[in-house]
Amino acid sequence: MLDRLLSTLGLVPESLYSRGAPAHGHEFPSINPTTGEELATVRLHTREDYGHLVDRAQEGFRAWRRLPAPVRGEVVRKFGMSLRAMKVPLAKLLTLEMGKPISESEGEVQEMIDMCDFAVGLSRQLHGLTIASERPLHRLMEQWHPLGPIGIITAFNFPVAVWAWNAALAAVCGDTMIWKPSPETPLTSLAVARLVDQICVDAGIENVFLLCLGDAEEIGETMIADRRLPLISATGSTRMGARVGEVVARRLGRSLLELGGNNAAIVAPSADLELALRAILFAAVGTAGQRCTTLRRLLVHESLLDAFLPRLVAAYRSIPIGDPMQPGHLMGPLVNEAACEAMANSLMHVREQGGEVLVGGGRREGGGFFVEPAIVRVPNNLPVVRHETFAPILYVMSYRSLDEAIALQNGVSQGLSSSIFTRDVIESEAFLSAVGSDCGIANVNIGTSGAEIGGAFGGEKETGGGREAGSDAWKAYMRRQTCTINYGSELPLAQGVEFHL
Ligand code: NAD
Repeated sequence: MLDRLLSTLGLVPESLYSRGAPAHGHEFPSINPTTGEELATVRLHTREDYGHLVDRAQEGFRAWRRLPAPVRGEVVRKFGMSLRAMKVPLAKLLTLEMGKPISESEGEVQEMIDMCDFAVGLSRQLHGLTIASERPLHRLMEQWHPLGPIGIITAFNFPVAVWAWNAALAAVCGDTMIWKPSPETPLTSLAVARLVDQICVDAGIENVFLLCLGDAEEIGETMIADRRLPLISATGSTRMGARVGEVVARRLGRSLLELGGNNAAIVAPSADLELALRAILFAAVGTAGQRCTTLRRLLVHESLLDAFLPRLVAAYRSIPIGDPMQPGHLMGPLVNEAACEAMANSLMHVREQGGEVLVGGGRREGGGFFVEPAIVRVPNNLPVVRHETFAPILYVMSYRSLDEAIALQNGVSQGLSSSIFTRDVIESEAFLSAVGSDCGIANVNIGTSGAEIGGAFGGEKETGGGREAGSDAWKAYMRRQTCTINYGSELPLAQGVEFHL
């Protein structure tokens, strides 16, 4: 099946992605987390290969930036069409390599398609402002220009959608790009790179979308220190983002950071509990707890705890866990052995700190990296609860007043996603107000995960402050230019300054 899938996606063994981007590094395995077995090996790029890719990205930029944005948008539109045609095989490869359930993988490819559509529209809307000038016969305006070749670093859990958030916007903005995907998902990245490459070949375009396969040390570190890349967009752990932010700032480059979350939901007394239960299950267990927006902390009003918690525990017991390629399974494996160990460690620590595991937390027998999602009752934001463990652990706390719940919710160093379940408009508005949730995403009667394209995605505090995908996120990929045009014959100076000989 794998061979057929790879060849459908244009990946032929031995020359997985050799067209114009030869790799001279060592062989690296892609592992199927469902079985723990090797799917294939890919050859990584070396630092020298990376250097050639950046030369090409610079060359590509000189031509790409000259094309009108709607013409660039047409390339992105065609890429979106090719994703539509390849949605099913691409989703299958994603599930094989990353382990998310097939429906979620199809959703991830759909997200790329939506992103392309969004970017195509934007390609006719990259507009600046005209501003009233204080000087007579002067026009003051701002315009946006392409920024340059940019670097995109992505995480394993949304191995291709996050690239598309960046790539579709960067492309219509006139940037070329080098993508360093997660080492956990090389095949899926190669497949996407091949698809977009084919579109470019057909359109007679070169060196716009480039892929560099490599690890954090050799390729990642080289990339973030590279002055030829004015912007590094990096998605991953807060530890990685702190390093990227520091190195890029040292060379006064720009970084766009999308980092870890520690997302909470509040279940208020007036909540529709049936709806809340379904939303919480998807938010906490979907993608086996490996979304940056995964629900990690549940704050339940004390009056509901006794009625609600047993229902949640029962629902956890009935989650179908297994081969993510089978549509009935709602939870697949974790990405690797280290993720299973991190989950076990967090559970050990939370027990030591006074938490009580109500359900789950065990390792499933057999091959692969399967675990049981866990619910842990904790007294409050214990030290372990304040960290993001990238696994399906849901910490449950109770609260008395909304102020207390909001303080608990905001009382962590991450600020990505949040939600409240309530039918009380006063509570809902308080939660969304300036003194409510401090996160980049705040939802009402929806879980913390599952954002749609169109809104800006990202979070505050240690989540990094970046915004991608929707709204005016495109501005991060362009340089702003303020222009003053004098169409008179006098030379009045701003602020009334006189300067005559
Ligand atoms: P990770 O930090 O281990 O790796 C992410 C990427 O960064 C990989 O490509 C990795 O090779 C690279 N990298 C690591 N160190 C680097 C360095 N020093 N220089 C350059 N590159 C470096 O993260 P992961 O385990 O792949 O993904 C999970 C994490 O990503 C979680 O914390 C999750 O919350 C976060 N995430 C955030 C978002 C978001 O939009 N906020 C989206 C997806 C994932």
